[in-house]
Amino acid sequence: MKEIKKIGVLTSGGDAPGMNAAVRAVVRTGIYNGLEVYGIRRGYQGMIEGEIVLLDTDSVSGIIHLGGTILQTARCKEFFSFEGRKKAYEQLMLSGIDAVIIIGGDGSFTGAGIMSKEFDIPFIGIPGTIDNDLYGTDYTIGFDTALNTVVQAVDKIHDTATSHGRIFFVEVMGKEAGFVALQSGIACGAEGILIPEEKGDLNKIRKYLTDRARRKKSSIIMVAEGEDEGGAISIANKMKEEFPDFDIRTTILGHVQRGGSPSAFDRIIASRMGKDAVEALMDNQKSIMIGVVNGEIVHVPLSKTVKLHKMVNMELLEMVDILS
Ligand code: ATP
Repeated sequence: MKEIKKIGVLTSGGDAPGMNAAVRAVVRTGIYNGLEVYGIRRGYQGMIEGEIVLLDTDSVSGIIHLGGTILQTARCKEFFSFEGRKKAYEQLMLSGIDAVIIIGGDGSFTGAGIMSKEFDIPFIGIPGTIDNDLYGTDYTIGFDTALNTVVQAVDKIHDTATSHGRIFFVEVMGKEAGFVALQSGIACGAEGILIPEEKGDLNKIRKYLTDRARRKKSSIIMVAEGEDEGGAISIANKMKEEFPDFDIRTTILGHVQRGGSPSAFDRIIASRMGKDAVEALMDNQKSIMIGVVNGEIVHVPLSKTVKLHKMVNMELLEMVDILS
């Protein structure tokens, strides 16, 4: 295998707090080991357009606490085509890049897997997405911060809900997975949680509103945006019709969930994953994702992370029924 001397690092897909800590770790570990590290700006878009800059130790100073990504990110249509990926490969060759570390979600890893089969360039993935929906890792970078952001916001909503005796349907991110809704719901003491992984759960909410809200008055129901009943607004409208005596409100937390300074937990896993990704490349590994399972760093084939589905722990959902 070719000796790795120059590596590229990029962030792709949705931004997530802690991506900067991972970029910093990649750059510093690379330089420590005598490699040249190049930042590829704006994800695959920047790769195609040759936005590739040499990074030194100072270029990643003072970024560990910053949300977003200093490299910027993008969703790139052109990369879906062979022609787009060919352009990207040619740009990597022009800069003399031997291998690429990609920080992103399953879409980004799918693209990396396809490109590394078409062209002889090793890719290593670092899971960076607030959704925590990647198979093979207990945590993705950004999930813990997003969770804490949601909890802080819902605690505030809770004050109003209690003061006015209202029922709030709070919609959080998670188009295909309910990890944010489930975990934040538990942490906020929500009375109900609606996630894409559980079908037909609206009847549970009906039952809850019939039996319990009459006594308890205020309630928080967490709704993942990909929930199959059509999101918090549509569910709240249905419930308003069925329970006209209740004061039902909706809050959509939206993009506040993505931003903000990363939590200590996210900074630490990002640093560990970034360091390990560089070491794995130097060990001639490729097409793997760096994950963390039971607190230990693990290597998972990229193909598995995109093909296999990470399951939510349904026992936690059952627990919510007991605790509410
Ligand atoms: P997040 O979980 O935050 O949404 P993600 O990495 O899953 O992150 P996507 O928008 O799905 O985000 O993918 C990011 C980019 O990866 C896409 O814009 C595209 O450039 C590339 N990509 C995704 N899927 C493919 C694919 N099947 N083939 C080639 N490239 C892909």
